[in-house]
Amino acid sequence: MKILVINSGSSSIKYQLFDLARRVVLASGLVERIGESAGRVRHTVVATGAEQVLNRPIVDHRDGLRRMADLLLAANSGVIATPGEIAAIGHRVVHGGEQFSQPTVITEAVKATIRDLSPFAPLHNPANLQGIDVAEEIFPEATQVAVFDTAFHQTMPAMAYRYAVPNDLYAKHGIRVYGFHGTSHWYVSKRAAAYLDASAESLNLITAHLGNGASITAVQGGMSVDTSMGFSPLDGLIMGTRSGDLDPAVVFYLSERLGMSLADIDKLLNKQSGLLGLTGANDLRDIEARAQHGDNAAQLALEMYAYRIRKYIGAYMAALGRVDALVFTAGVGENSVTVRRMVCEPLSYLGIVLDEALNRAGGSGMVTAIHSAESRVQILIIPTNEELEIAEQTAALLTAGTVS
Ligand code: AMP
Repeated sequence: MKILVINSGSSSIKYQLFDLARRVVLASGLVERIGESAGRVRHTVVATGAEQVLNRPIVDHRDGLRRMADLLLAANSGVIATPGEIAAIGHRVVHGGEQFSQPTVITEAVKATIRDLSPFAPLHNPANLQGIDVAEEIFPEATQVAVFDTAFHQTMPAMAYRYAVPNDLYAKHGIRVYGFHGTSHWYVSKRAAAYLDASAESLNLITAHLGNGASITAVQGGMSVDTSMGFSPLDGLIMGTRSGDLDPAVVFYLSERLGMSLADIDKLLNKQSGLLGLTGANDLRDIEARAQHGDNAAQLALEMYAYRIRKYIGAYMAALGRVDALVFTAGVGENSVTVRRMVCEPLSYLGIVLDEALNRAGGSGMVTAIHSAESRVQILIIPTNEELEIAEQTAALLTAGTVS
């Protein structure tokens, strides 16, 4: 069964074509700088390793997806011969609000709801919808499925997802914690259960997705019960360019005393803060290198970054009671020996005991345990794979017969 996964963002489209029967990726690609004067399409046929790069303007999402389809169908690629070979397309959709807690076959009504949710994710949901519209045109025989970033967190109890603001703001306007990165948190939770040879239902986990965006989730019996991103992906951990936790009074102050517009403050907190605001660099590799060379700002940024993660781990240990495993995933979580050490070392009194030799050796693209024998909490590095998870959820809907 061939499943295409499309992540249609505001100015880029990422895609992967899976042959799920063989659990392999057939082709993958990235369409970048849509709508700009200099666009680019990078397409790889995995079996041969052949990479094609087209440097040319990509007018809009339709143009970008047509290029993708042409490359997938190219006579010499051996990937697909006709569009009809693709059984289903899984679309990453950022915001599913309270309406979607499961992957969902896309109908006109589903598209209308995704559109209605656009004010919650103004950059993402409209771009996701464009991807869906064009995919429907190009692949009319394929079942289109939406997999929502927020869906996994719909199991949170009200005490975790409500904000202490007047009730009407929740009831009438949907002001609450939604949480994001749900596909990744669920994927690594399942991988952790498989690695520990236990059912997801029997485990309590803390999953730390530390990438350019970052969030941490308390997972009880396979269900999200709390997460660090909130109403938007701005909340929680320190990220590449986002501030994470911030007293909202700072916003009033910036507006009233510094005369900043709301658009400027939005840009400041989403694009100019986090590691970038603290050090001038948003890539943790650069910051680690600078800290090693005695840069105080870089050292402080690392300490703040790790301290914020530790605070959430402490909070989620309190929320969960018992924790079986702490999972590190995504770019930083899978690769940064330093961050994992800075997060875990001070937590040994809570039963989180890192084995530094295993920590140094870990992160080779495999699930790796990096705790010492006396650790009460297992510490795991688990590579995330949101595209595979979307493909599997899409295929599961097909085989469950939910689709006529
Ligand atoms: P992601 O969003 O999951 O692709 O993660 C991207 C981020 O991972 C980059 O911005 C880097 O900060 C970080 N990263 C990737 N490789 C490493 C590494 N070897 N050491 C530290 N950080 C890394």
